[in-house]
Amino acid sequence: MTNANRVALVTGANKGIGLEIARQLAQAGVFVIIGARDPARAKAAVDDLSSQGLAVQSVEIDLDDHASIAAAAETIRAEHGRLDILVNNAGIVDAEDGPPTASSPEAARRIMSTNFIGTLAVTQALLPLLRQSLSGRIVNLASSLGSLTLNGDPTSPYYSARLIGYNASKAALNMLTVQLSEELRDTPIVVNSVSPGYVKTDLTGHGGFLTPEEGARLPVEYALLGEDAVSGRFVEASGETPW
Ligand code: NAP
Repeated sequence: MTNANRVALVTGANKGIGLEIARQLAQAGVFVIIGARDPARAKAAVDDLSSQGLAVQSVEIDLDDHASIAAAAETIRAEHGRLDILVNNAGIVDAEDGPPTASSPEAARRIMSTNFIGTLAVTQALLPLLRQSLSGRIVNLASSLGSLTLNGDPTSPYYSARLIGYNASKAALNMLTVQLSEELRDTPIVVNSVSPGYVKTDLTGHGGFLTPEEGARLPVEYALLGEDAVSGRFVEASGETPW
């Protein structure tokens, strides 16, 4: 399947890494649907990419509003009949998150609701359309902070980043990658967890090392994996991340 025939949905694509994933997929010839929860922000992203001559449209999709997820899936079904690439990018942190002794449980619930439950709901809603593709690709925007191994390794640079809600949500997302890739083993659909690196976005207070454009590169590479695509992996730019 050539990129020119592919249709992708990127959630949370109105800014940050998601916007750059959308841009790079569209630059590769993929028709990109920009998922955004706010219509005005969606329009600004579509205007940005369209002004570069890129083929994009937007769909309203809020991971915390399951009716909006169902409506978005129906819109994509009616207009395209299938989906080739799903990039589960939308995600949040929460100011009331923190170490397990102090974090607000409600903050953990909010983060889990968006990052894990919302992503699960989006994936389930789009799966019938991904099954219509000759080479379905699901990329889950993971984080090294979701690695159980690194969270327990005092030599890891991630060891001190104790955000129980966020880190648990990304560990849960990894469980989705593992279980879904196994469940879909006999289909052409592959599912991977991809860490973008530490990226300068609103989510990090612009404190990262990478630009959003740089952070988008590995997720895009996994979205465009060819026929011998690996599935069920947890990767970062330097290679595999321990679970
Ligand atoms: P960002 O700039 O804050 O962008 C997050 C995007 O998600 C925005 O478009 C936001 O929409 C959207 N979003 C949030 N909640 C949503 C909801 N309920 N429904 C729909 N969309 C929602 O963050 P980012 O740094 O680009 O992060 C993108 C992904 O990469 C996240 O999953 C994050 O966990 C992951 N990640 C980031 C880093 C990093 O260093 N930045 C590292 C590892 C993993 P609004 O504009 O409407 O808020």
